[in-house]
Amino acid sequence: MKETGDNRKMVKTRFAPSPTGRMHVGNLRTALYAYLIAKHEGGNFMLRIEDTDQERFMEGALEIIYHTLDETGLKHDEGPDKDGGVGPYVQSERNTQGIYLKYAKQLIAQGDAYYCFCDKERLESLSANVGGKEIHMYDKHCLHLPKEEIEKNLAAGKPYVIRINMPTEGTTTFHDEIYGNITVENAELDDMILIKSDGFPTYNFANVVDDHLMGITHVVRGNEYLSSAPKYNRLYEAFGWEVPVYVHCPLITNEEHQKLSKRSGHSSYEDLIDQGFLTEAIVNFVALLGWSPVDDREIFTLAELVEAFDYHRISKSPAVFDMTKLKWMNGEYIKQMDDEAFFEKAFPYLKRVLHKEYDFRKIASMVKTRIETFPDIPELIDFFEQVPEYDVSMYTHKKMKTNQETSLEVLKEILPILEEQEDYSNDALFGLLSAYVKEKGCKNGYVMWPIRTAVSGKQMTPAGATEILEIIGKDETIARIKAAIEKLGH
Ligand code: GLU
Repeated sequence: MKETGDNRKMVKTRFAPSPTGRMHVGNLRTALYAYLIAKHEGGNFMLRIEDTDQERFMEGALEIIYHTLDETGLKHDEGPDKDGGVGPYVQSERNTQGIYLKYAKQLIAQGDAYYCFCDKERLESLSANVGGKEIHMYDKHCLHLPKEEIEKNLAAGKPYVIRINMPTEGTTTFHDEIYGNITVENAELDDMILIKSDGFPTYNFANVVDDHLMGITHVVRGNEYLSSAPKYNRLYEAFGWEVPVYVHCPLITNEEHQKLSKRSGHSSYEDLIDQGFLTEAIVNFVALLGWSPVDDREIFTLAELVEAFDYHRISKSPAVFDMTKLKWMNGEYIKQMDDEAFFEKAFPYLKRVLHKEYDFRKIASMVKTRIETFPDIPELIDFFEQVPEYDVSMYTHKKMKTNQETSLEVLKEILPILEEQEDYSNDALFGLLSAYVKEKGCKNGYVMWPIRTAVSGKQMTPAGATEILEIIGKDETIARIKAAIEKLGH
């Protein structure tokens, strides 16, 4: 095991999602980096469900979390479904056990936290507008309540929250592995709420208590938590607990450099799957959103990422979600798929546009190296079903030295030859057309271009003329050539 600051401890990271919706790309990256850090060090990767915000809970979100971790291969060593001795792993269950209240009360006893009974109106009257921004700074009013009043309020069941008692002087310095040291004036730190009036802990409190109790050595999360991190350090200090290593990951933006949001249409893992991307490509791509290896290498399996991942190489600058790159990467993964697996995934897309009885396997193998995502398939092959409307100018090709007249002549000459031919295998057809080319004393393209155009109506096809003829067969070939002659004849 490598040195980790405290080399007696096994590295332990956690993924701590809130079950509030789809698996955002940022969440997936957090999970991946946490997994990679743990596995790179031979450590433990834990799953904790942070469901203390009951209002944001979404039905089905838990299934999404488990399903995504399972599909992407980010196997957790411990979690709600796999006891590792520090459970429960679901915060609402931990709350039922009184874990958070116990620690909040410890802080109250130490003078580091206090009950606050202020009502909404009073709290609202405290917000100040600083530079156009609403700032809510609690004024420590309840810190000074006499003991008897606190007890009276509690006995009367008056709603309360528990707040941290932040020092009003001095500074707090916080270290992040990526962003370095960050120092803030304590006077700027709000007496944040630890326990809410509904009895649940805030994220701010629960994450500190849990990370400590569950033995987390490295905290990996998005940089939206960076500004709160000094507050967490105050908590660690008040408890006398060792601060974990912090790894805050950079923001992910779209190509317009705005925060990746639902509106971009590809902000979650499910979105990307729905768009036909492969899990392996998504994982590989997400790994590079803010992290880069020592060399320029871009294609990594999960196991190779584990080997190469060094969190010190995570960047501070926002990572741009480059769709072009993801598509390219997906294409690379498609090329590596074995033929059977590829066919299975491609089949529904073939079926979408092809209703004739063609050899689907042959068509699939034609497109395998030519697509970036599966939804690219229909457009590439729809001509097999029917020749689309096309302009006769397509027969004019400078390099092939063809134009409408030469094409018409070739098609007219080739038609009877094709009518006579029985064997429509690619090899036989190629031999047949090559003989014609030879006899005519022209270039291959001079003959192949008009034929391919006639049977496909497309500038670009995933296969050459004879391969297309083999797929569509004799009757269809003859019909298409005749239609082209007619089209050119006018
Ligand atoms: N529950 C938090 C979220 O889903 C996780 C933050 C963390 O990893 O500490 O955003």
